[in-house]
Amino acid sequence: MSYGQLEQQLNELHLTAIQDQYLSMAQQAAQSNWSYETYLAYLVDEEANRRRGNRRTRRIKEAKLPHLKELADFDYKAIPQLNKQRVLALAEGTYLERAEPVIFIGNPGLGKTHLAIGLALLACRQGHRVRFYTVTQLVNELAYAQQEHQLPKFLERLGRHKLLVLDEFGYVPFSATGAHLLFQCCSALAEHVSLIITTNLPFSEWVQVLGDERLTSGLLDRLTFRSHIVEFVGESYRFRQQMPGEDKRG
Ligand code: ADP
Ligand code: MG
Repeated sequence: MSYGQLEQQLNELHLTAIQDQYLSMAQQAAQSNWSYETYLAYLVDEEANRRRGNRRTRRIKEAKLPHLKELADFDYKAIPQLNKQRVLALAEGTYLERAEPVIFIGNPGLGKTHLAIGLALLACRQGHRVRFYTVTQLVNELAYAQQEHQLPKFLERLGRHKLLVLDEFGYVPFSATGAHLLFQCCSALAEHVSLIITTNLPFSEWVQVLGDERLTSGLLDRLTFRSHIVEFVGESYRFRQQMPGEDKRG
């Protein structure tokens, strides 16, 4: 077989890392007296690494995160009442394997979205399918899917994710249809897909945005079963950053 044929076949099989590396690695193999198996193992390792890297990049792109915020950039000192251990335990990712819900609850500006994005990025880097929505955006998409008679298909597609982030529950009240669709969606995903929900509303006030007692208790039942509830208490981070002369790290 000629190099030309080999290149063509590697190309056809999308073995791009092997295609890039096989000649230089063959030189190294000759110099270091590698066995054929070792040479092959190194090449396959290059290919596997490249694919993992590509998958991570693709997962992050598909997640449609509004910003890239890293868990590592979170300043826990700025919010001393936050249970740091719980956040770090979430970062280990077992909640994903068990499809457990996570609820970040507290006033605006305390880093709920930041930590939700940080966890989403970690999940993407582990190769998982992730999608970020504001709750309003999701409800609009659900309504559109229903109008187009595509709701089951849309729910099925959501169900292929490992993690959905639903940001800003409670900022905008729902119509009766919207509330019902959100309930239907969360019921369909419960125990299959992990949800991270951020909200400024204590559970006792959820009925005000959902507008229906029974639906609210049904939704809360699904969302709080085996859930990780993390409370954010303190003063807005951005506000503190703008205060002149304030010890920003304190
Ligand atoms: P929330 O979702 O609770 O309203 P955000 O996550 O949007 O708050 O935070 C507002 C801004 O402040 C973001 O730019 C975020 O990165 C930053 N921020 C908030 N808390 C912290 C923190 N403890 N450490 C670092 N940045 C923070
Ligand atoms: Mg937010």
